[in-house]
Amino acid sequence: MRIVRTQVGIVGAGPAGLLLGHLLHLNGIDSVIVENRRREYVIDRVRAGVLEQGTVDLLQAMGVGAGLRRAGLRHDGLYLSFQGQRHRINLAELTGGKAITVYGQNEVVRDLIDARQQTQRPIYFEAGQVSVAALASSAPTVRFQHDGEECEVRCDFIAGCDGFHGICRPSVPDGVLTNYERVYPFGWLGILAEAAPSLDELVYTYHERGFALFSMRSPTLTRLYLQVPPDEPIERWSDDAIWQEMMTRMSTRDGWKPNVGHIVQKSVTPMRSFVAAPMRYERLFLAGDAAHIVPPTGAKGLNLAASDVVVLARGLRAFYDDGDTSFLDSYSDVCLRRVWKAQRFSWWMTSTLHRFPDETAFDHQRQIADLDYLTGSRAAMTSLAEQYVGLPVEVALEDVGLTRHLHSGA
Ligand SMILES: Cc1cc2nc3c(=O)[nH]c(=O)nc-3n(C[C@H](O)[C@H](O)[C@H](O)COP(=O)(O)OP(=O)(O)OC[C@H]3O[C@@H](n4cnc5c(N)ncnc54)[C@H](O)[C@@H]3O)c2cc1C
Repeated sequence: MRIVRTQVGIVGAGPAGLLLGHLLHLNGIDSVIVENRRREYVIDRVRAGVLEQGTVDLLQAMGVGAGLRRAGLRHDGLYLSFQGQRHRINLAELTGGKAITVYGQNEVVRDLIDARQQTQRPIYFEAGQVSVAALASSAPTVRFQHDGEECEVRCDFIAGCDGFHGICRPSVPDGVLTNYERVYPFGWLGILAEAAPSLDELVYTYHERGFALFSMRSPTLTRLYLQVPPDEPIERWSDDAIWQEMMTRMSTRDGWKPNVGHIVQKSVTPMRSFVAAPMRYERLFLAGDAAHIVPPTGAKGLNLAASDVVVLARGLRAFYDDGDTSFLDSYSDVCLRRVWKAQRFSWWMTSTLHRFPDETAFDHQRQIADLDYLTGSRAAMTSLAEQYVGLPVEVALEDVGLTRHLHSGA
């Protein structure tokens, strides 16, 4: 068996694991990243695309923001659309200049993998039979198979960054974690189309036939979503049927509609809210989707993964610099305060903008009134805006050895 020693064993090379690995590197802390998929698979996965202001600032400060500066699309506002009319919410004006940036998760992951490989610190792709053990000891381990060889990472701490379906959370003994969950009675049919975005900001649409979202990934790629039943077979939707439904739901009275193009990817994603608490068991720390899931309506998943690992990096830094465990001890509480606010926001955006199978005519009118109020009240718009661009993280960039980059805002 090959034995590899390190300080922090990281399971999963998604945004959480890669960001943590690089933050630790910048603080002189060694880590080993173990990922069960191929490098190309991890990069090509089409997922999130909306980065909060704080996530943009973090990537810049970490020195991995070159791609983001080159190709990130800064959005100062977004639209809410209902009853055939679009209403703009000016995020920047309502939040003292903050914005969101559209930059595909696959690009974020590609940039971070490149940065990792430049550090020469280990990252194992295509690891088989990954398991964690001795979590309650001072020397926990990550075991896996790689290139036909049994490997064991011996470390001080393990970061479970292996997503919702990973092995770290299920490795915590029964009775330690409390799971909080809400499953929604719908999913999102998402497409990526080779079409120039017909507008340079996102449009969230509440329509009689269900929710729809207009988004983009680049000046040539449009990303669109439709509310569908949670178990909807994607085969039931021809490309023509998808475009027809997109047009029906999204077109506004002023003649705006998405541009049509060749669909290069389509899938249906069920929607759930989930939190496992606490986010720590002894020497195992859960971060990102391994600990919590949000419905994508609020665009918070990737951003929460980023804020979790900043809090974790601060704790590990204090431990290795000063032997101070207090920040590791408060890791879960600090993260969960922000996680629950993002959960509440994501649930609220989802509830406000989707049609529910059991809703009454009263509910429907109330939703219209909600949207009417939201788009007519500066106070209500400010509340949406400050949550959409991202609530503050309790840990400052300086606390993890970073300084704010001059190019903040991409
Ligand atoms: C369709 C869709 C749209 C989304 N849109 C948005 C959005 O607009 N904005 C936003 O902020 N978020 C969005 N999200 C959520 C966002 O993609 C996730 O929250 C984010 O990927 C979480 O990062 P993570 O690193 O915690 O987990 P993941 O990205 O899931 O990474 C976990 C990694 O661990 C690996 N892994 C799993 N099991 C093992 C194992 N046993 N051993 C080793 N490795 C393992 C996985 O292969 C993966 O690489 C979206 C998600 C989906 C599915």
